[in-house]
Amino acid sequence: MKNIKNFISYPFNSKLFFDLYQKLLNKSSNGFILSFHDLSPQTFKSHIECLLPAKPIPLDELIKRQMSEKSNKNCFSITFDDGVEETVRNSWDVCLKHNWPVTFFLPVNYLNGENLPFQKIQLLEYYLKDKEYTVPKDLKKNKSLMNKKRIIEQLKKIIYYESSFNIKENINYFLKFLPQKSELKNYKYLMPRAISWDEVKKISKNDLSSFQSHGVSHTACSGLTTDELKNEMISSKDIIQKHTGKKVNGFCYPYGSPNSINQASIDIASKFFDYSTTLIKGRLTNKSILHYLPRIDLYEENKASLVKMKVAIS
Ligand SMILES: [Zn+2]
Repeated sequence: MKNIKNFISYPFNSKLFFDLYQKLLNKSSNGFILSFHDLSPQTFKSHIECLLPAKPIPLDELIKRQMSEKSNKNCFSITFDDGVEETVRNSWDVCLKHNWPVTFFLPVNYLNGENLPFQKIQLLEYYLKDKEYTVPKDLKKNKSLMNKKRIIEQLKKIIYYESSFNIKENINYFLKFLPQKSELKNYKYLMPRAISWDEVKKISKNDLSSFQSHGVSHTACSGLTTDELKNEMISSKDIIQKHTGKKVNGFCYPYGSPNSINQASIDIASKFFDYSTTLIKGRLTNKSILHYLPRIDLYEENKASLVKMKVAIS
């Protein structure tokens, strides 16, 4: 599938085709937000450079321009989610070198030492023995026994909407079947370290960087109660502000998909932040909802032509 997409996007290698396509769709004056997770600094650099002459500008500025109906022609913003140490460090080096403004969305519990739910599922996917397990009652539909494949599928599904308590209970239940941490060879690769607060503080001194909120526990907002939503938003904002000494005015919904974001989370985010970003594909328009902003997500395996195709058709 990945290769097919890269193949179909081949014509977008042509600058003429890319420009024409955007013009036809009348999108060239609309800015866009790129969303990255984990990728190599080389790929990140080439993804940004293939979009030239378009250039990254600070996210706040991009949103302000769009909302005041100014043209965002050739403007976009770079965002990175999740705060993985290696990714933040390497991509920040690239941004600094090229003078590219960048926004990092941080889930604060991860920086405080608790690995992200999907990293734990990755560990299970890799190390859980291939056999049937008796499953906890939230996870089972009709069956009390499930094989590894189904368990992983179910866990990957529920993180998009379940409560943090249920997710934790389910994941922790299966983690008990794994060997000791010290025996897991790929532990560090599958459960990478978060960037430290000290490093965040250091990077944040440079105004090219911006650190914003990705919640506390990286739980889907639709799985949180109103009180939990408020707590996730207020305390993540306070903690990041305390470490950077700078204002936190943006929120990024964990998982960012329509079933992870409910109306309550949009309403509450509107009270505490100036804008909120999703992972729903699209460009900014002057009709964009400030607390439901689209982004274009890019990955290591995307070739330059696919990057351009995603931007052109979004
Ligand atoms: Zn995330």
